[in-house]
Amino acid sequence: MSFVPAVLPMHPPTPTAWCFAFVGKQLLVPDALELALLPHPVTLFEARAHSRHYLGRLSDLDCWALGFDEAPAGWRAVPLRAAMTQFGSPLMMVAGRAAQVLEWDRAHRFCGACGTPMVLLPHERARRCPGCGLVAYPRVSPAMMALVWRGRELLLARSPGYAPGVFSALAGFVEAGESLEECVHREVAEEVGVKVANLRYYGSQSWPFPHSLMVAYTAEWVGGEIVPQADEIEAAAWFAIDDLPAIPPPFSIAGHLIRDAVANLRGEPAAG
Ligand SMILES: [Zn+2]
Repeated sequence: MSFVPAVLPMHPPTPTAWCFAFVGKQLLVPDALELALLPHPVTLFEARAHSRHYLGRLSDLDCWALGFDEAPAGWRAVPLRAAMTQFGSPLMMVAGRAAQVLEWDRAHRFCGACGTPMVLLPHERARRCPGCGLVAYPRVSPAMMALVWRGRELLLARSPGYAPGVFSALAGFVEAGESLEECVHREVAEEVGVKVANLRYYGSQSWPFPHSLMVAYTAEWVGGEIVPQADEIEAAAWFAIDDLPAIPPPFSIAGHLIRDAVANLRGEPAAG
């Protein structure tokens, strides 16, 4: 399944389309099916949608983001995160894109500078203020993720709100004026109080809760004992790679990062 992004609908339209329809932050799935998404004619939805945005084509089918006030008959709303665990990539990456475009649309109806209603620009994903000219694009918030390692151990932590028993790599948002590398050093120091070196870029993933771009690194421990940050880190510890706690699912970059690091430290080829 290859995805080709576009702002303007391609011609001719495909007879059926992937319709990523949302009520708030919840994805609509057909009642009749056990959590499945199938291509549907977009005409089935668009009359009742309060916002609609073309996204591009996935496997030669049009993709639309559609915002509803309530689920139409025969459909139910499920949390996007639950759907993502079920469907996997790349369908859910496009669903994540749809969620972010709809969230941007919802949050930029009025100019943040002068309060004038914003208008959609036809040829790019942006809203412009006719009063003062301010242009608002979908917001992307970079966040770093750091998996700290020491010998054959990984430093994993829990934040309040994680599923029970789950530990993950450290993560935090990049501050204005900060590089990703500076962010890794600062967040690791703040969250667990240790020093790291030998940062290695691992990969990145768009994370639509609500508009993060996760940028993942591995980092080697060089000093300091773990001191969990009050309020942010519920628990943090070194775990031997053969005795890990529950970790995030493989579809998340945290899940990939930890599984690949374990394979690397064991000298196995990466899981990919
Ligand atoms: Zn304005």
